[in-house]
Amino acid sequence: MSIISDSLKRIKPSPTIAVTQKARELRTAGKDVIGLGAGEPDFDTPDNIKNAAIKAIKKGDTKYTAVDGTPALKKAVIRKFKRENKLTYSADQITVGTGGKQVLYNAFMATLNKGDEVIIPAPFWVSYPDMVLLAGGKPKIVKCTEQEGFKITAKKLKKAISKKTKWIILNSPSNPTGAGYTKKEIQDLAKVLIRNKKVFILSDDIYEHVRYDNFNFFTIAQISKLKDRTLTMNGVSKSYAMTGWRIGYAAGPRNIIKAIGKIQSQSTSNPSSISQAAAVEALNGNQSFIKKRSNAFKKRRDFVVKSLNNIKGINCLKPNGAFYVFPSCKSLLNKKTKLKTDTDFVQKLLEKSNVAVVQGSAFGLDGYFRISYATSMKNLKKAMNRIKSFCESFE
Ligand code: PLP
Repeated sequence: MSIISDSLKRIKPSPTIAVTQKARELRTAGKDVIGLGAGEPDFDTPDNIKNAAIKAIKKGDTKYTAVDGTPALKKAVIRKFKRENKLTYSADQITVGTGGKQVLYNAFMATLNKGDEVIIPAPFWVSYPDMVLLAGGKPKIVKCTEQEGFKITAKKLKKAISKKTKWIILNSPSNPTGAGYTKKEIQDLAKVLIRNKKVFILSDDIYEHVRYDNFNFFTIAQISKLKDRTLTMNGVSKSYAMTGWRIGYAAGPRNIIKAIGKIQSQSTSNPSSISQAAAVEALNGNQSFIKKRSNAFKKRRDFVVKSLNNIKGINCLKPNGAFYVFPSCKSLLNKKTKLKTDTDFVQKLLEKSNVAVVQGSAFGLDGYFRISYATSMKNLKKAMNRIKSFCESFE
């Protein structure tokens, strides 16, 4: 009898973390590897936020807090939803966890029974299906093509809903494609969901503040009559370059929020008291960092998309947000290159050219790869030259 539980057999380790780890190992072994796998901003956390954490330590905010968030942080989250999304919540509709990841995990653990289905549009963030599987649910993957802008359509959503559907996950702007849903696209999806009356919506808004070209961000609870059936998740990791602080939050129906708190009370208890104090400053303090950082990301996005589209065999859409692009390498998967799959492509790219990216199949859509451009222009220039030489070496 194995010591490891059967539920662990249902899941795999995160492929994006695996790529980042592999790049780190190769670098330690002396190889000049450029890692374009990591999903975190390369910027440092702003000083006002760091100072709030230091102040909290000195003041003695170093003890357990309320399990699902301090009153001060819940207040800041309520203000954020009101200010930025015109959404009104009370404190018992808010939960704070150790990163958006824990909030999502708890939400699935709190709501899924064996066999319950969760609609996940692909390409998806790698953790969604595995979290659903771990909680005993069934991921229902709906592939969304490049022609559809990698976004689920109302028609596909309608077809995917069954009697067992409990949730649909919406992630805009998206990891791994950067695609953002327009107001009209969200409203079209909302029409299907309003008619259906049963399915809950998990809106993962973690990339809300990383967007370009005046792309208008909307979250489904704000522009439909679905607020009572929506759990809106967000966090400080991507917006304020705070991935290591581990603070995420969500707002939604009281019974779900209470159930999430119950799980948290028997697992991790409260997220770090110091990180919570820092998150209060992030949400309440000066927001100019967001604009400055988005401008820097935009320059990188423009450079990367242009460079990739200048490479023979690569084709890349220009995304609205996040810090990822999801180019196609389909034209290079053939007998001449001896590359059969996107996994072959990324492995050979790493072996021959020392550039680490992640295969599209890890995100549920074959024939693509994900580049994170959350790294310096210097690195990106080098990486684009290497990818070009690699792809054109097959000519
Ligand atoms: N959702 C998406 C789409 C993500 O890409 C990530 C992180 O990569 C998360 C949620 C979780 O972020 P965190 O746990 O750092 O708040």
